[in-house]
Amino acid sequence: MLDTAAPPAPVARPSLAALAPPGELDVVEALVDPLDRFCRDRIDPRENDRRKSIPADVLDGLKEMGLFGLSLPESHGGCGLGLWATGSIAAVIARRDRSVATTLGLHLGLGTRGLVRYGSADQQDRYLPRLASGEILAAFATTEPAAGSDLSALRCTLSEVEGALALRGQKCFVTNGGLASLYTVSTRSPGLGGMRKGQTLVLVERGDAGVCVGAEEDKLGLRASSTTMLDFDDVALGAERILGPVGQGAACLQHILAYGRTVMAFGCTGTAHAALAATRNHCSVRVQFGRTLDQLAVVREQLADMEAKLFAIEALVRWAATDESKLEWRSLAAKVLASDLSGEIVDTALQLHGGYGFIEETGIALLARDARITRIFEGANDVLRVHRGLFALTQAPEGPQAARCRDAIGEARARLGTRLLGDHVTLHRLGSLAMLADAATAALQRADHEGTPEARALAARWLRLSMSYALCLGGES
Ligand SMILES: Cc1cc2nc3c(=O)[nH]c(=O)nc-3n(C[C@H](O)[C@H](O)[C@H](O)COP(=O)(O)OP(=O)(O)OC[C@H]3O[C@@H](n4cnc5c(N)ncnc54)[C@H](O)[C@@H]3O)c2cc1C
Repeated sequence: MLDTAAPPAPVARPSLAALAPPGELDVVEALVDPLDRFCRDRIDPRENDRRKSIPADVLDGLKEMGLFGLSLPESHGGCGLGLWATGSIAAVIARRDRSVATTLGLHLGLGTRGLVRYGSADQQDRYLPRLASGEILAAFATTEPAAGSDLSALRCTLSEVEGALALRGQKCFVTNGGLASLYTVSTRSPGLGGMRKGQTLVLVERGDAGVCVGAEEDKLGLRASSTTMLDFDDVALGAERILGPVGQGAACLQHILAYGRTVMAFGCTGTAHAALAATRNHCSVRVQFGRTLDQLAVVREQLADMEAKLFAIEALVRWAATDESKLEWRSLAAKVLASDLSGEIVDTALQLHGGYGFIEETGIALLARDARITRIFEGANDVLRVHRGLFALTQAPEGPQAARCRDAIGEARARLGTRLLGDHVTLHRLGSLAMLADAATAALQRADHEGTPEARALAARWLRLSMSYALCLGGES
């Protein structure tokens, strides 16, 4: 069989330094090697998947390394690291075991972010030191059986009964539900704080009377991470449990969700990294048609595309994590593209492993099962695309591919006028284009920052790939 492939070209390894904020790179670099070693020596992802839990000694080891306090303030026993560093560490763990990364990432992100950002001094003193040491774990509960993507439909209610607060309702799909001792819970709170339809966040302890933690869900992936329902049967709460301003929980949620989905997006880069590394190994030893797979021209192209996609999503999550004032909208592209593209990378990894990819033993099947949920949780991707479309109307995207998106916005405005705000199909398309513009900006910034020919080649390859995604959306090339 004729094949025109030259020997495989060396590929740039992801650089941690990409867009690192001052002061965080050193700390992360010092942690990466010991953590990598710990993950390899002590974490067995397939065994965890089989037993559907993480062994206590693994969680204890992470606690000893201080990882449960990474993003928590130094004043309360944490490390005081920012989102870039926190996400980078979650990505390292995700290379080995996505369930472990999810357990820790949820604690550092959604689980504790509300307390760190909106907690009173008393609340922080009461909980943060134990959360930072890992003595207790945190979870975040907003999804309900009838309120998933539509968080305005919450039924879990916080009401005032004879001068005391009572919490009643149900939450589902709570990550860390079975492990946590502290839950940040979103509620509808009609009448409280003078707001007829407000939402309010509350801190609920596992031991509060009336709290019932459900059984572990049986899941497709992330099987070693805990996911449960929570029932609140008239849980009596003092006013000191209210987190943030009464009636304004929905606004607080926006920040917490943006932070949490960025940590999760970093995890996607870890999964993609693991898939690519395994595939490069496999393709360098598997011989078909008298050559190793990585000498076949088509396979080389596929490997190069995987590398370019990984380069782009690593750039994107770090771009999102380094400017908190823009986190709410930058995190949208980071979450959506990191989950979509890591899913594509894992799928190509499975394909290139052939039949072996379908067998659990190689670990690729586990990566694929674990990756699938990332397109759904922390905001379903199609919902976030619509959100990004709305942001694009007031904040035109930046960078080299922004013109295509600006043109599409202009055309949509001319065609629909104010009806555009309610046209979710158009907003979804605009959001998708804006996210590609975001990814182009981030990839080029990373290439500039790294300044190597390899990085520039990967950015250029990503730009070519992203044009084909844009063409599928009906944009100009
Ligand atoms: C393993 C796991 C862990 C989770 N962890 C947590 C957690 O810790 N805390 C928590 O609160 N929640 C958690 N969730 C819940 C998760 O965030 C929700 O599942 C997710 O937000 C989607 O909500 P839903 O499942 O109700 O889907 P629905 O809202 O019913 O949506 C179903 C699908 O419809 C489409 N869709 C819906 N609305 C729109 C729209 N407006 N535009 C376009 N498409 C749309 C999307 O494709 C979406 O995937 C977890 C879920 C799982 C499975």
